[in-house]
Amino acid sequence: MAYQTINPTTNELIRTWPNHTDADVETALADAHRLYKSSWSKGDIQPRLQVLRRLADLIDSRAEELATLITNEMGKLIGESRAEIGVVAEIARFYADNAERFLAPVKIESAQGDAWIEHHPIGVLLAVEPWNFPFYQLMRVMAPNLAAGNPIVAKHASIVPHSASVFEALVTEAGAPKGAWTNLFITADQVARIIADDRVQGAAMTGSEGAGSAIAAQAGKHLKKTTLEMGGNDVFIVLEDADLDKAVELGAFSRLHVGGQECIGAKRFLVHERIADAFLEKFTAAFKAVKIGDPLDESTTLGPLSSQSARDGLARQVQQAVAHGATLHYGGKVVDRIGHFFEPTILTDVRRDNPAYFEEFFGPVAQVYVVRGDDEIVELANDSRYGLSGVVFSKDIVRATALASRIETGAVWINTFSSTGPELPFGGVKRSGYGRELSELGIKEFVNQKLVLVAKD
Ligand code: NAP
Repeated sequence: MAYQTINPTTNELIRTWPNHTDADVETALADAHRLYKSSWSKGDIQPRLQVLRRLADLIDSRAEELATLITNEMGKLIGESRAEIGVVAEIARFYADNAERFLAPVKIESAQGDAWIEHHPIGVLLAVEPWNFPFYQLMRVMAPNLAAGNPIVAKHASIVPHSASVFEALVTEAGAPKGAWTNLFITADQVARIIADDRVQGAAMTGSEGAGSAIAAQAGKHLKKTTLEMGGNDVFIVLEDADLDKAVELGAFSRLHVGGQECIGAKRFLVHERIADAFLEKFTAAFKAVKIGDPLDESTTLGPLSSQSARDGLARQVQQAVAHGATLHYGGKVVDRIGHFFEPTILTDVRRDNPAYFEEFFGPVAQVYVVRGDDEIVELANDSRYGLSGVVFSKDIVRATALASRIETGAVWINTFSSTGPELPFGGVKRSGYGRELSELGIKEFVNQKLVLVAKD
């Protein structure tokens, strides 16, 4: 794995970053473990929360520079990068404000005595993260665990090393001690050895199923806990009474956001037959109106994919979908210009025997299905190996919430697109993974929920 910054808009190699050696990894683990044993991790929470507050302020103060860095490194629109940086600061502030309450002892009613649960850090963690939200993904793991007292060694995706190194520098500048967050440019073999190391107690992984499965298998072998945040094939359900214009606008936004490279992006559009023709016409018009171009240009609405291999893989998926009987309703081609651009694309007539029916398309490719009733909607929505998030659009909130209850995903959003917020749990079921990040649930994933009981006299 070569750690390189290649601007996906210009295909220009900006910088290659040297890998860390095994000796560097040993130093990182030793520093992290020493910190875990110290009063920093096990003592008063306030110094740790102060670091999160300073980090939030620091990120806010450098927002434009950080947003530009993201856009130049992985190609998302500059407005999307600004939004990411805004949420990243919010997450740090959220845990600074709430972690003490989340980690406070919780009393348990018991006939056996006075009982309560305490929350303690468990030790050094490994984080393995993807490139699509280069700062947000790191903060999702860092903020709750810094508050809880778990030091982290982190392996970021090899195409966003600049983001990885700047994030580490920000954490240090905010006052975190050595070992609290260490960025490592390492190979899969080095990751495996870190998981096996006795000083490491768990791994948080976000990315593809292949990588998640490899990391979970290694962790399982060594009896370490993992959280897995994998891909999705989210449904975007539009019922016949929905506000059609809003559903089209937000559906197109959700599918094309970050160039379609978002785990919770809408991927399968399930549209009621009574409005299917009107939806498809307006949805196609929204895709036609997209302005492809430089993601630093404020008027651009679709930038490049993150890498050449991402673009070429997506092109192959579309070709294969069509070869298996799907109709290419709109788009479908690599854009003929420098950079890793792909046309916004709509597929229809995707049947169950088409591989595309079960695949995640990590780019600007929508699948549109026509559905007739709620049972069929539930059947189709749940006929997926994934279970990350989903959307229902309807004016009938009772019907929409009833559908939401029947959909097998970690979240359902009604009359808006799937999104995120520090206070909202994030995660999935099935092959979308397990465990939750963010919110009170996220901070409880890697803490020892310890029972203490004082017997009655
Ligand atoms: P990926 O290839 O799995 O990469 C993710 C991370 O895993 C990278 O740091 C990668 O390093 C590392 N990695 C890959 N194979 C590994 C191995 N065998 N051992 C150790 N580390 C390994 O995923 P991606 O294609 O970049 O990311 C897109 C996927 O992530 C999509 O499926 C998307 O839906 C999912 N995702 C999910 C969430 C969520 O919260 N559920 C959020 C964002 C993205 P290298 O870069 O060096 O290969």
